[in-house]
Amino acid sequence: MLPEKVLAEVQGPARYLGGEYNAVVKDPSQVRIQFALCYPDVYEVGMSHLGSQILYHVINSPREVACERVFYPQADAVELMRQRGLPLSGLETGRPLSDFDIVGITLQYELTYTTVLAMLELGEVSIRSDQRGPSEPLVLGGGSCTCNPEPLAIFFDAFLIGEGEEAVEEILDTYDRWQQAHPNRETRSTGNREELLRELAAIPGLYVPSLYEPEESDEGLLIPRPTAPEAKPTVKRRIVEDFAHAAIPEAPVVPWTEIVHDRGQIEIARGCTRGCRFCQAGIFYRPTRERSVETIRRAATQIIANTGFDEISLAALNCPDHSHINEIIDGLHEDLSGQRVSIGLPSLRIDNFSIELAEKVQRVRKTGLTLAPEAGSQRLRDVINKGSSIRG
Ligand code: SF4
Repeated sequence: MLPEKVLAEVQGPARYLGGEYNAVVKDPSQVRIQFALCYPDVYEVGMSHLGSQILYHVINSPREVACERVFYPQADAVELMRQRGLPLSGLETGRPLSDFDIVGITLQYELTYTTVLAMLELGEVSIRSDQRGPSEPLVLGGGSCTCNPEPLAIFFDAFLIGEGEEAVEEILDTYDRWQQAHPNRETRSTGNREELLRELAAIPGLYVPSLYEPEESDEGLLIPRPTAPEAKPTVKRRIVEDFAHAAIPEAPVVPWTEIVHDRGQIEIARGCTRGCRFCQAGIFYRPTRERSVETIRRAATQIIANTGFDEISLAALNCPDHSHINEIIDGLHEDLSGQRVSIGLPSLRIDNFSIELAEKVQRVRKTGLTLAPEAGSQRLRDVINKGSSIRG
């Protein structure tokens, strides 16, 4: 959020306004934990990220926790903020990043790593974790890049490895207990902060880099070895076992301005069985799990009712692999075509995509289809285990 007097001087001020439809604004005096959910890219990109919408919904669910969105501003706004000493702040209340209890940063692409550091700097949070004072926010990383957290290990207090919906609730509970024991932020000591980090390390899926030291293995590799009993020698990736009943953001925030994926989204499946050799997501989000046709239809109807979007996109690594994809599309047409809502399939393999499916999704309005052949020759497709064949 930017102060009103600055908005007239930046391009695309709508991205800095906050107050969008379905945004959750809580009275700071009524909440115990303030969580900054940061996406290290501009508003239009971050607002299109379904994972952030899910976490925004999950973190805001308890009454005593307030979650605010934080995006990195465009270059013109960054320059102006630096000139005027305006810190990066949350969109919901304009609270500076350094005032939050927890700063959670999603790590989706390595190319955003420099922006992660720029966000901390612009938010006036110490960049290195060993320089962060006891009254500063806990800086937590999550997202698919945490499968290799070491390049960012010196900047983060902790990483959540794997899927976040369930683990974030455990993090909030742990933080809440610790905060009640040390309510005065200004008088907290370094020891208090270390106590929190050790408690966090005991949560499955949490990696706290400061509780490890590098040790050389027999093969000459540097392996992190735990230095505290709570830190585990191997951190296991978190997986949402009951994905079918996991939280769905049925009232996502509706942006004021056009964003990259300007539509409703419903995650119909997670994971992929295909095993293409180059694909990190295909491995990271295993095993494959599906939502039922009934759950998808009910949630999609709610999303449209709560937002007014005229398109619903079915999100999955590979939509046609859902075992009931035809029933889903037929059901959504039955429920939503009367409102002129079209259906989008964002991610398609060429070998299990049919003309029949294409015709089904284009019934209301023509929408884009993204086909992923991945390589220009059959030899290369075979080498990367893509499995699909295109013959001329
Ligand atoms: S089909 Fe797509 S999502 Fe699945 S492993 Fe291959 S590239 Fe990854």
